[in-house]
Amino acid sequence: MTSEPKGTALVTGASSGIGAIYADRLAKQGYDLILVARNADKLRNLAKAISDETGRSVEVFPADLGKSAELKQVEKLLRTDASITMLVNNAGIGAIAPLLSSDVDAMQSMIDINVTAPMRLAYAVVPAFVSRGKGTIINIASIVAIAPETLNGVYGGSKAFVLAFSQSLHHELADKGVRVQAVLPGATATDFWALSGRPVEHLPSEIVMAADAMVDAAMARLQQGELVTIPSLPDIADWQAFEAARDALKPKLSLGAPAKRYAA
Ligand code: NAP
Repeated sequence: MTSEPKGTALVTGASSGIGAIYADRLAKQGYDLILVARNADKLRNLAKAISDETGRSVEVFPADLGKSAELKQVEKLLRTDASITMLVNNAGIGAIAPLLSSDVDAMQSMIDINVTAPMRLAYAVVPAFVSRGKGTIINIASIVAIAPETLNGVYGGSKAFVLAFSQSLHHELADKGVRVQAVLPGATATDFWALSGRPVEHLPSEIVMAADAMVDAAMARLQQGELVTIPSLPDIADWQAFEAARDALKPKLSLGAPAKRYAA
């Protein structure tokens, strides 16, 4: 544990899985915490365990981020609590069923939690971070952001939003002292899978990472200043080639006439 003051990290979806591990690791790095999720009992138990172990201040803020009024309470906290130096946008839900067997209202709820909530929370905290010239936003996306055919398409689309939004935040805010990291986990051993309809035990074990290993890898890359972190990817050159191909497309994507191949 370090004695250097780090301020407070607000972690959404901290009641289980990846978010609970972020909370533990951040407290051990010296952050005080505000833990957000719906399950207040789980949050309180985790808060006590972490503060007993680390001596950090750990507050709980139970909220359903899919409910506009409760989301706005968290936004207000991010706007007004000057101790907050980090936002971890981790809360999220998944789905594995294809469109023809999915309920559109459930898809809308997923967009509320996976897209609207992290977007609004970023909008709430960014002005404060910019005015202080300092702050960190970690957005938990997924590898489905770049492989949307893998699971449910709305889930993939929601995580593609998180990746694109993170890249844009970095583009707009890096020179204003705001650090942004998008984390793209592959399959990670949490309740996410059972809640999505396929218990993690049903996946081939060689594609499933332990949640603590995933978070530790991502946090190590945060220290290195990495914008997009894919904990499973063996060779970073593969991602760099993907980004280089995207960069090469950029000057050719908006021109005054259709490409010759589209001529009648
Ligand atoms: P998890 O164990 O199911 O945790 C999800 C967390 O989100 C829980 O703390 C849950 O708490 C919270 N949450 C869900 N709905 C919420 C709502 N309406 N309002 C507030 N909090 C809500 O799953 P996880 O794997 O740790 O997921 C964390 C993030 O990682 C998600 O964004 C997920 O998309 C992403 N991810 C997971 C995997 C994977 O394989 N596990 C892979 C890639 C990305 P309450 O139920 O108490 O509200």
